[in-house]
Amino acid sequence: MPPTPDAEARAALVIPAELRPADGRFGSGPSKVRPEAVAALARAAPTFLGTSHRRPGVRGLVGRIRAGLHELFGLPAGYEVVLGVGGATAFWDAASFGLIERRAAHLVHGEFSAKFAEVTRAAPHLEDPVIVEHPPGGHGTLAGDDRVDAYCFPHNETSTGVMVDVRRPAGATGDQLVLVDATSAAGGLPVAPEEFDAYYFAPQKCFGGDGGLWVALCSPAAVERIERLADRWCPAFLNLAIALANSRRDQTYNTPALATLFLLDDQIRWMIRIGGLEACVARCRANAATVYGWAEASPVATPFVADPAARSLVVATIDFAAEVDAARLAAVLRANGILDTEPYRKLGRNQLRIALFPNIEREDLERLAAAIDWVIERLA
Ligand SMILES: *Cc1c(COP(=O)(O)O)cnc(C)c1O
Repeated sequence: MPPTPDAEARAALVIPAELRPADGRFGSGPSKVRPEAVAALARAAPTFLGTSHRRPGVRGLVGRIRAGLHELFGLPAGYEVVLGVGGATAFWDAASFGLIERRAAHLVHGEFSAKFAEVTRAAPHLEDPVIVEHPPGGHGTLAGDDRVDAYCFPHNETSTGVMVDVRRPAGATGDQLVLVDATSAAGGLPVAPEEFDAYYFAPQKCFGGDGGLWVALCSPAAVERIERLADRWCPAFLNLAIALANSRRDQTYNTPALATLFLLDDQIRWMIRIGGLEACVARCRANAATVYGWAEASPVATPFVADPAARSLVVATIDFAAEVDAARLAAVLRANGILDTEPYRKLGRNQLRIALFPNIEREDLERLAAAIDWVIERLA
């Protein structure tokens, strides 16, 4: 058999052991799962995996997840944790039925924010959205707009590494909802619950678990909207009123992946144990300082996001000078067991994308930076 390109790259360049991160997972989703969580799952498996999600064992776990998220995010009284099967992408569809009444306003500055805007644009029961677009690498600003009943934006645009403060748009009225895509931000970026009505995410990014589940932290106004729109026709799978009723009983409408629930609960416990959301954000901040600091000092690397305030603390995007072939660099890293540093494919830049999530150790990012410098020197 001819050698694969990876094998060739590896044969050519073997990164010295002392430069290799202890854990080589730097993907922005799915992301590094803590080995301790996997071990705990293996220990619990004989009386957990393969048991009914309608019985006390799994329902107790869902109840713990809901209570744990209340605690982690300091949710005020009246906020509810709602969950369902299908991931953040399914939640966009669900929100187009159950949270947006007539028209939404969207920030669009990358793949994920564009996808949600396309959902509400295509929905025949909604009017065309108001879209505030910005080229990748930055973001626009939503202003109060009396034509809309919901404002939608990503806390972190994972495709570009741009973060936005979660704040109600200036001039927004009390009956307009703020729907925040926190898929890659929740658990790694600071947030105040008073500033959102639905803060939704999936567990395979900061929560270092597996995909296929969505979780939404819902304000009383969001709950009221869900209940008021309950009569609008909607596929039952996407019906947020049904999801809300099931969540209140610590269940999901249909069968969830039990391992996903287990890993999510384990991660929430870990986050609370190390000091809560503040401690998780501090870990991401330190990770970000390591990667951006290295890039700024490098003669060939530059943070893609020019405005330091918008530079993500959870996903770093690093551009390289033309003389460095970032795709080849990523291939050599991959061949050495350093995984998923490739940029978001549709962005089409000479770039690496590196997750800075709470589970990633700063020492591993220091080694990654040293390994990248080592490879660049030898690719030249
Ligand atoms: C990963 C991601 C999604 C999609 O999540 P799925 O669980 O795969 O549907 C949506 N929005 C953002 C910001 C993401 O990072």
